[in-house]
Amino acid sequence: MSVNFRLPGPTPLPPQVKAALGRDMIPHRGPAFRALYRQTLELAREVHRTEGDVLTWAATGSAGWEVAVVNLLSPGDPVLVVVNGDFGERFARVAGRLGIDVRRLDTPWGKAVLPAQLRLALEAHTDVKAVFLVHNETSTGVTNPLRELAAVVREHGALVVVDAVSAAGALPLEVDAWGIDFLFSGSQKAWMCPPGLLIAAAGARAWDAHQRSTYPRFFWDMSEAKKWADQGMTPTTPPLSMVYAFRAALGMITDEGLDRVWERHRRLGAMTREGITGSGLQLFAEHGFESNSLTAFLPPPDVTAGQFLELLRRDYGVEAQGGQAHLADRLIRIGHMGWVNEPEMRQAIDAVADASALLSSGHSEPGKLEALPVRTATA
Ligand code: PLP
Repeated sequence: MSVNFRLPGPTPLPPQVKAALGRDMIPHRGPAFRALYRQTLELAREVHRTEGDVLTWAATGSAGWEVAVVNLLSPGDPVLVVVNGDFGERFARVAGRLGIDVRRLDTPWGKAVLPAQLRLALEAHTDVKAVFLVHNETSTGVTNPLRELAAVVREHGALVVVDAVSAAGALPLEVDAWGIDFLFSGSQKAWMCPPGLLIAAAGARAWDAHQRSTYPRFFWDMSEAKKWADQGMTPTTPPLSMVYAFRAALGMITDEGLDRVWERHRRLGAMTREGITGSGLQLFAEHGFESNSLTAFLPPPDVTAGQFLELLRRDYGVEAQGGQAHLADRLIRIGHMGWVNEPEMRQAIDAVADASALLSSGHSEPGKLEALPVRTATA
């Protein structure tokens, strides 16, 4: 049985990306790399819908929180962090560790953050220099209304800083038109690459803030990254294979057409939700704000996420994921971002329906599932 790899990241690698990963090394200061990196950044600007800069680092998405803080702010600066899930929580934690004066807007996990709530919070914290937002809360399957939230932040004048790790490349996102100052994502989600490349977009206001920032920094310095990017290079040795892979993935996205990619994700999200609710299971995300890059749902009563996931893996070859933090064993998350289409989602949805019926009827007793050897993906 081949594995239907349905994690909300990392995601399956298309053949074009795998082929790119197998390419030989080239000199990273030579003309071939410079041409490749320039093309990659140009395409990356296109898919972020920005005329600003796109920069990359050899890192995973989590580095984006730190890159944002140390480049745009100074120790002690007041920042409002919007938290409605585990990734917002981590954004706040990183900022706190780095000495930012963190103010929080907390809303219940599973619910979206609404513009009116953000406006109120900003009225209570008029001094904040930036607002940190998570576009798509991967921990809960909620998409926050980023365009509207960014507009509220802009009215206030603070910087709009966005974690778009599980959104970019899957969900509609217009960096310039929505007034987003700084946004980052990671290669292993809708970008269809392995984990390892951090991608960040920075606009004019982010660069102004950067001039004022007093944090010491070396590897994460965005002016250093830009100085080299303008010459088609990176300050240190680039993760060459990741750049090859990202270039290949961006080519696939632009060949399909970005709007069509977003529409495919919208369709797959709707189809997944319909299938899951149709089998009597309950979605976790608030209605109207469900993510189109992943779906989070509750297992049947008296069944843990671990039991459900094990059955999905063992009997159907579907590799999904549990929840995070206090929801670890209470949620199941199924990814539908990146290189994915209807047949894989149909199989996964049918498997969820079947597993749910079996576990609910007691025909497959959760406690009796045997531990299974780990399988590797063949997608
Ligand atoms: N932010 C969001 C919204 C995420 O989904 C993730 C990872 O799943 C991260 C940040 C952290 O990224 P990474 O695990 O690549 O460091």
